[in-house]
Amino acid sequence: MNTPLIELKAVKKIFYTEEVESHALSNISLSINRGEYISISGPSGCGKSTLLSILGLLDTASEGEYSLAGKQVANLSKAERAKIRNKEIGFVFQSFNLISDLNVEENVELPLTYRTDLTKAQRKSMVKEALQKVNMNHRSKHFPSQLSGGQQQRVAVARAIAGKPSIILADEPTGNLDTTNATAVMQLLDTLHKEGATICMVTHDPRAAMQTEREIKILDGKITADSQLNLPEAMSA
Ligand code: ADP
Ligand code: MG
Repeated sequence: MNTPLIELKAVKKIFYTEEVESHALSNISLSINRGEYISISGPSGCGKSTLLSILGLLDTASEGEYSLAGKQVANLSKAERAKIRNKEIGFVFQSFNLISDLNVEENVELPLTYRTDLTKAQRKSMVKEALQKVNMNHRSKHFPSQLSGGQQQRVAVARAIAGKPSIILADEPTGNLDTTNATAVMQLLDTLHKEGATICMVTHDPRAAMQTEREIKILDGKITADSQLNLPEAMSA
């Protein structure tokens, strides 16, 4: 009945560089339901970004199965994957990844311009709505260089949510921010989650992980812990 939004089964990722085989992910099986707020943590090089790239259809697994909203995606063409990615996935990166010669609203609109199902008027109204959500609509004509890191990351979050994706994937979204801005971005993700967004966030920050509802720990390409956090009092009593 309730198909998970995401289901990975025995996923492996091997990178081949020169003569070296690097097993970035060993045997990852994972289900994510709609509405979950998940953190992924683990030491540098353990495979977190690789996992997020596979979840976000930026990369493919070497072995194993991946279904997104009940659809097998492992064997789709590059173009089909790009189409699903544009519609279903919102990315937030540590380094914001805004385009410096586009202004705020152009940055937020950019991923929507690849969507053939949207009119220009629909795109404009989605951009406006997203910028309002992150409280950056008063900066829509500014360029990234005119914004603080925290403001740039809020714009990046707006870009991620504008297309109303099924899931937001965030790779260390507070990694380049000071405490005040990091707290603001975490509050924003928390609000989006409370409004129903499904979020999967890689983080080094234990306080950020504590704010999520489920913590997945990875070591050497394997899941070593997968625990529910922040249970309502009635359940944890
Ligand atoms: P994390 O995000 O947890 O720091 P990564 O997923 O970036 O870790 O990397 C996991 C492992 O895979 C590392 O050993 C890394 O060197 C390797 N790796 C990641 N991307 C590539 C790539 N494009 N080519 C070769 N090796 C890679
Ligand atoms: Mg990483």
